[in-house]
Amino acid sequence: MNTINTSDYIGELKSLLHDQNIQIEDILSVEDIKAWCVERSIPETNPWRTGKCLRNSKTGDYLILMAARITTEMVNSILGAISTRGFDTTELNNEDSFLIHLLFHEVGHAKNANWTESECNQFAFEELRKTKANR
Ligand SMILES: [Zn+2]
Repeated sequence: MNTINTSDYIGELKSLLHDQNIQIEDILSVEDIKAWCVERSIPETNPWRTGKCLRNSKTGDYLILMAARITTEMVNSILGAISTRGFDTTELNNEDSFLIHLLFHEVGHAKNANWTESECNQFAFEELRKTKANR
């Protein structure tokens, strides 16, 4: 896969959140997630972060951040991690499916703060399949 420009997909991704029983205030395509967090005194140490879910402590709503540019290396590193957790990543080998899975992975974290990375991946695969079935 080539570098993914997430801003091209934000509108589509937002439309997928309507069925989720969760208050998400926005999805932002952010140039550098770590820098964005540091500027706002939000803890973040990973310079290669591709997605992050934040909770607004005043409203309780969630904000999802996505890296504006997800490079081939970032994609491969994520697919490697998902595959290490025992999942077949074949269906994530296109920009659209990769981003939908990434989005729902972050939504999984928002829905249940105690979920593991594997549980968020499982949830994301299920939601990706539902999304494809509804097209
Ligand atoms: Zn995660």
